[in-house]
Amino acid sequence: MANQFEVRQMSILRNSHIRFCVFLLFSLQLGVAQQVSFRITPLRPVEELRAEALKEQPPSEPGTFRKPDLVELVKLDPTIKLDIRYATTNNFLGTPLYTQARAFLERPAAEALVRANRDLHAYGYGLIIHDGYRPWYVTKIFWDATPDDKKIFVANPASGSMHNRGCAVDLSLYDLKTGEEVEMPSGYDEMTERAYADYAGGTEGQRARRALLRQAMEKQGFSVIPKEWWHFDYKDWKQYPILNVKFEDLGQ
Ligand SMILES: [Zn+2]
Repeated sequence: MANQFEVRQMSILRNSHIRFCVFLLFSLQLGVAQQVSFRITPLRPVEELRAEALKEQPPSEPGTFRKPDLVELVKLDPTIKLDIRYATTNNFLGTPLYTQARAFLERPAAEALVRANRDLHAYGYGLIIHDGYRPWYVTKIFWDATPDDKKIFVANPASGSMHNRGCAVDLSLYDLKTGEEVEMPSGYDEMTERAYADYAGGTEGQRARRALLRQAMEKQGFSVIPKEWWHFDYKDWKQYPILNVKFEDLGQ
């Protein structure tokens, strides 16, 4: 039988152990919050939506466009990191949409992105890409899967997405020292007001990093969209057509 002293010792141990566990759980949640994607329940099974979307064609647009020249970002600058969540189950639909974890942009947008990445190195950050060019059929899947109250966060396939033109990029910053993605006021693809580019909440550090990213991107001809701090359109998007080419068909 334990004496009173031992009982007290054990209870202190137990309490500090519990406190440590709570602390660990809390910090893990904070740390992981940015890494685990926001989820919705798709309106219909994604496999069904994929089969339908693949049978359809993008809207035909009048006018003349520049010849597409999609460039793989990491080939232009290997210090650009990738976290292509649509190629994994860690995305808002909880199932892979891409068969390859790759990111492309039309050449002038890709070159502008490389300049932004280099500028950010001076501040100790690099760019981490969540998405670039997105085939049109994937935009159609997103739209058909998303409930009406959240459709403001997805592009209508009837007009296409800037991603379909290879002129939009979803991205954040990573710390050059640790290689880790930094915390921003919301996680990527979070469908809440915390995602808004002018959301006033979050910590000072989160807002400062969001501002730094925006400043570096704007300097190179990109503009943020009001509903998503991570999404930037390239200024010349009107010159490029909506594409429906799969990553597999873009070559190695
Ligand atoms: Zn986007």
